Amino acid sequence: MRVGDRIYFDHQASTPVRSEVIEAMAPYFAHSFANPHSSDHSLGWEASAAIDEATEKVAKSFGVDADEVIFTSGATEANAAAILGLWRTHEPRRGRILVSEIEHKSVLECSLRLRERHGVDIGLVPVDTRGFVDLDALAALLTEQVSLVSIMAVNNEIGTIQDISAISKLVRNNGSVFHCDATQAPFALDLTLLGSLADAISVSAHKMYGPKGVGALIMRRHLQGRFEPLIPGGGQQQSLRAGTLPVPLCVGMGRASDFLNFDSTEDLRQELRERTELFVKSVLDIIPGACVNGPDLDSRHPGNANIFFPSVSAGEMLSLFQPKLAASTGSACTSGIPQPSHVLRAIGLSARETNNCIRFSLGLFTTDTDVGEAVDIVGRAWDTLRELS
Ligand code: PMP
Repeated sequence: MRVGDRIYFDHQASTPVRSEVIEAMAPYFAHSFANPHSSDHSLGWEASAAIDEATEKVAKSFGVDADEVIFTSGATEANAAAILGLWRTHEPRRGRILVSEIEHKSVLECSLRLRERHGVDIGLVPVDTRGFVDLDALAALLTEQVSLVSIMAVNNEIGTIQDISAISKLVRNNGSVFHCDATQAPFALDLTLLGSLADAISVSAHKMYGPKGVGALIMRRHLQGRFEPLIPGGGQQQSLRAGTLPVPLCVGMGRASDFLNFDSTEDLRQELRERTELFVKSVLDIIPGACVNGPDLDSRHPGNANIFFPSVSAGEMLSLFQPKLAASTGSACTSGIPQPSHVLRAIGLSARETNNCIRFSLGLFTTDTDVGEAVDIVGRAWDTLRELS
């Protein structure tokens, strides 16, 4: 994937919007612009029908029903709605929630808010050195006080794919609600299974080749009556999330969902995995002491390569890549905050070592030529920094 002559290896921060998605969205900016909640005229009905179609598509890709999809502004909002809106839906005696220590900041910060404002007890579920949730520790933490457990399907920094089936079984056997942040899951795993494994799921269109500014909280029907909406108001979306729906964005998310769970998706995933493997192998071949953080390639996001570079700063490497290669130090949401990555710390890196790590994330349109050139750019940056030191 290129933008002009620049190579884009930052797909876990955001994916490009597919041309088919842009095409599907265009009429809803220019022509069919009416409020989809205007029920008194045919233009409103037209916009409403487009929302219904998009909802069906999103629902289908997660194996749920259309009335279980709540559109949001993205996964940050979906996570906030799930954590803040579901923690007290249970019996009153359940006043504790569990989150894994490598969750996205949007989950961790909401949990902290619950602790500060409502005195909710938060349990952190530990992970091993590859980022897998420690299932024995989770089982031990699951007491009858636990109302809600939030564990992501796929990590955004090191790509670890959790055993959601095992986690779901433990959480549900305990009678707790299971929320899964599946923002990084599209193309990493079969999403239709997730719908039956989690009670609530967060997703974001801009991680699945759709537009930014829209996502969804998928909430199973049995929970909806007990959910406290984050945004109350005009009663849209069955009063679960008020606000006029952005028709073009919802249509775009629906169209992007068409490309998930295809018969050929497994082939695409395998191709992407092979390209990532080629990239990793080539970089490790030319840079002595470099190594990959996180799990083996077969149990991580197929496009993720989080690489540790000994004795050079990731920030300096990334500057030397400019303007030719886009990669990142980790989660774009935490960049700018001068703190070591909580994910890398959780899998055992020291604060100093976290400064030497770069997340490269390849995508469906990455080519072998992109991989070859990216390896050259990384190699040249490394040589330059080694000469300077
Ligand atoms: N969760 C995960 C795992 C993510 O990677 C991201 C995006 N960095 C988010 C939540 C937030 O998504 P959005 O940008 O749609 O708010």
